[in-house]
Amino acid sequence: MEIVEKMKILIEISKKDEKILKIKNLENEAPKKINELSKELEQIQKKFDVDKENLDEINLRRRELERKIEEQKLNFDNFKKRKRETQSNKEFLVLNREIEKTKEKISKLEDNLLDVYIEKEEQEKIMNKAGDIFKEKEKKVKEEKESLSKKLMNSKDDLLIKEDERKSIAARLMDENLLRKYNRIKKSRGTGVSIIEEEKCTECHSTIPPQLFAEVKNAAKILTCPSCGRILIYKWIE
Ligand SMILES: [Zn+2]
Repeated sequence: MEIVEKMKILIEISKKDEKILKIKNLENEAPKKINELSKELEQIQKKFDVDKENLDEINLRRRELERKIEEQKLNFDNFKKRKRETQSNKEFLVLNREIEKTKEKISKLEDNLLDVYIEKEEQEKIMNKAGDIFKEKEKKVKEEKESLSKKLMNSKDDLLIKEDERKSIAARLMDENLLRKYNRIKKSRGTGVSIIEEEKCTECHSTIPPQLFAEVKNAAKILTCPSCGRILIYKWIE
C-alpha cells in the first residue's frame, strides 16, 4: 500500500479517536456537571430559606407590636373609665397624666408598627423575586439533567459503535508497526497525527524545518514532528 493511502487511513483513525474521546469526556464530565447543578440549586434554596426566616422574624415583631397596642388601648379605656368615676381631684389628675402617657405610648407603637409593615412588604417583594428565580433555575436544572442523562444513555451505545468502526478502519491499515506507533503517540499526547499545511505543527505549534516540510509534502515516508513526535501529514495529500 502506498504511504499516502496509509496517511489517509491514519487521518480517518484520528478523526474517529477524536469522537471517541469526546464521548469519554462526556461520560467523565456529565456526572460532575449534574452534581454542580444540584449544588447550585441547593444554594438558591438556602438563600430562599434565609429570606423566609427573615419574613417570619418580621411577622413575629409585627404580632408583638399589635399585641402591645391592644394592651395599651385597654389601659387607655380603663384609665378613662376610672377618670369618669373618680371623686378625688388628685386621682383625676393622676389619671389624666396616665391617659396622656398611654396615648403617647400607643402613638409610638403605631409608628413602629408602620415601619414593620413597610419592612414586611419589602421582604415579601424580595421573597417573590427569589421564588421566581428559584423556580426558573429549578426548571433549567431539571432540563439540563434530563438532557445529560439522555446523552449519557446514548453515549454507551455510541461508544461501542465508534470503537467497532475504529477497529475496522485500523484493520485496513495493514501495518501493525505504524498502528502501534500511532497508538503510542496518541496515548502520550492525546492525539497521534498533526495535519499541516505550512511549516508549523498544528498540534504543538513548533516550526517545521523547510527540508522536513518538503519531505512531508512529498509523502514518501512516515515522518514525525521533531518537537512533539506526532505523525506529520500534509493537509492536501492526494
Ligand atoms: Zn508537533
